[in-house]
Amino acid sequence: MKIINKNNFMIFSKDFYNYDYNKFYEFINNFFESPNNIKVKIYFLNSLNQFNFFNPYGKFEKWKCGFMTNNIIFVFSPEIIEKLTIHKKEEIPEIIVHELSHLFYNNLGFRNITLLNEGIATYLIYLFKNKTLKTNQKLDLSKINIINPNIPKKTYYPVGLDIINKIISKHKKEKLFDFLKKIKSFSDHKIISTFQKEFSN
Ligand SMILES: [Zn+2]
Repeated sequence: MKIINKNNFMIFSKDFYNYDYNKFYEFINNFFESPNNIKVKIYFLNSLNQFNFFNPYGKFEKWKCGFMTNNIIFVFSPEIIEKLTIHKKEEIPEIIVHELSHLFYNNLGFRNITLLNEGIATYLIYLFKNKTLKTNQKLDLSKINIINPNIPKKTYYPVGLDIINKIISKHKKEKLFDFLKKIKSFSDHKIISTFQKEFSN
């Protein structure tokens, strides 16, 4: 196991991987505009056993490739990711970007609304890859139950993406950030109605 310290990052890995960690950090920080200097730990997983040991979010499935817990980003190493998951090793930068998004989201003290948290992380991957996004015209934010949308877990990513893309293109991200801070101690019921009111039309 090698431990490498690079600017805001401490990397734990079997080998040295030459990723542009600073670029990932700058990209995410540019979106969240965090006033904090955030320290990031990344642990490259080398086996399914390690994944299962650290992962608190339910059992392994082939589409899962990384997670963030206790302020540490866990991701399968490039040697093993293609053997264990449906992902390519070329996707590792965007997986790190996705998990960094969760880390910044937490660090800013936003209320954890899974649909919005995953939506932002997915939205940022699109931005990171310079992919254009179309706003979903049919999506009516005033009808969304943001806490219990009643959809399968896997669809939280595309649905969350649609929601975030719509909010940011219509209302600006600052309004979203203010909402995520404001609802910190709201009941689920109040969060749902506040969301529907603030982001309607
Ligand atoms: Zn995620």
